[in-house]
Amino acid sequence: MASETTTEGNYTKPLPRLKGMTGEWFGWLKKHELRFQKCTGCGHWRHVPRELCPECGSDGWEWARSSGKGKLYTWTTTYRPMHPSFTEVPFAQVVIEMEEGPRVLSHIVGTGVEELDFDMPVEVIFDDVTPEVTLAKFRKSGG
Ligand SMILES: [Zn+2]
Repeated sequence: MASETTTEGNYTKPLPRLKGMTGEWFGWLKKHELRFQKCTGCGHWRHVPRELCPECGSDGWEWARSSGKGKLYTWTTTYRPMHPSFTEVPFAQVVIEMEEGPRVLSHIVGTGVEELDFDMPVEVIFDDVTPEVTLAKFRKSGG
């Protein structure tokens, strides 16, 4: 599987909007830190970023650093991409369940789609796709 890391200026896939709390989340990724919101009321970790804790309703939270370790929760494989920039098929969109609990939509690099398995241990890697945007991706880990 080819790396999606590209030389500066050649990245043509859709990019996230770096605004609001989502922009803050990508700001941590740019520093190569994977962080999630953690409720200061009950300790619940959450993702995607939002104002209130879904467990206790508190509006108190912090950006807490994740271990970067998790497991493959589920995935879907794309054979016919719906966007012209996604030329390396097949590829899988994956949902990673982090050790701390939150689930994140991402990609796994270095492992073919036929090798993916439920609960496969993974760890985060940081892919600087543009000077402004870093994406959190994952690779298989030893467990
Ligand atoms: Zn809470």
